[in-house]
Amino acid sequence: MDMLTEIPYLIPQDVNGLHYNGFINIHSELYVFEIRLPTSKKLCDAVINCDFKLQKLIGNFKDIILQRLKQCESLVSFIKEFQMITETQVEVMNTDSSEMKYCQKLVDHIESLGWEKLMYIDPIFTQLHLSYCDQIGRNHIIKLNIGSEYPEEAPNCFVELPLKFDIHWNAKCDLKHVYKQFVVSVEQCQQFWNLLSDIDCNTWILEPEKPTFSATHRRIAIGSGNSLQITVDPLNPRILPECKFLGSDQAIAPLRRSMSANIHLWDESKGLLENLQLLLNVKFPSPTNTSKEEFSTECGICYSYRMDTEIPDEVCNDARCAQAFHTSCLIEWLRALPNCRQSFNTIFGNCPYCEKAMTVKMVSQ
Ligand SMILES: [Zn+2]
Ligand SMILES: [Zn+2]
Repeated sequence: MDMLTEIPYLIPQDVNGLHYNGFINIHSELYVFEIRLPTSKKLCDAVINCDFKLQKLIGNFKDIILQRLKQCESLVSFIKEFQMITETQVEVMNTDSSEMKYCQKLVDHIESLGWEKLMYIDPIFTQLHLSYCDQIGRNHIIKLNIGSEYPEEAPNCFVELPLKFDIHWNAKCDLKHVYKQFVVSVEQCQQFWNLLSDIDCNTWILEPEKPTFSATHRRIAIGSGNSLQITVDPLNPRILPECKFLGSDQAIAPLRRSMSANIHLWDESKGLLENLQLLLNVKFPSPTNTSKEEFSTECGICYSYRMDTEIPDEVCNDARCAQAFHTSCLIEWLRALPNCRQSFNTIFGNCPYCEKAMTVKMVSQ
């Protein structure tokens, strides 16, 4: 974005783009405005001068403006947000005093929570992002949508947690209460995240592609075309997780046998990864000595690995072939053949590669 076309009344005072002087336009009225950046060009160290009228307008919102300075990516985007915040303030002053009270109350609540926890606020004060850093240094964000009935009405909360997050709220509550409830929930999940991060760092995770804090399942590569999917209980992460093997019968039958023979060896004082390797009597391939491509074999029909969220799950049972296919690709392929047979939700056909008989179960949608 070009400064001169975007903000025409602000004139550059030097060649380096560090000093601008002139006016900014708030609802068709011009206010004197000057901004100087340090030689580092860091917006957060900018110095702003403005006329008395503008100072009065932004008086209540100095902290929010400082916050925007830290977050905006460019000077133009900062000045546009500055204009928007000030315009909102002018509108509020000209119209309804209840809206003004709402804004002031919210600013007071942010103040009492602590500005350092505020990551983001939109110019019309309806969306806030608050952050919490846990002992391990993982940063957790709670996003709040705040209605004009706040604080009588609870904010809508959006979090990335493996647990359901319902806030307890009454008209006397404020941001501190919701933040505290968020921190309690984050702390409850620490052990869950620690155990999963051990798996994430030391194995190849085929699914999810990028595990989020709320993801309770992991699909761990065991060999080419074979994997183990585990689903971990966030409140009891040390117990044996739900396990599902994916791959050809030849490859996974011994793993199933080993698991049932060794199930008594599960030891809750050990990590998930250690326990799983002990039960299966395998060492999962690790990023230190293998590459992910060895395990992410492409679909034999569409030649890609990931299709939306689907990865090739159906594997030909002939060990010499062991070609993998996306379930949906294989169903489409088999259905198009003249000798396709279907019984209830199972389709019978032959492997497109080696002709060996294959069955595919259709997952009910
Ligand atoms: Zn495919
Ligand atoms: Zn085959």
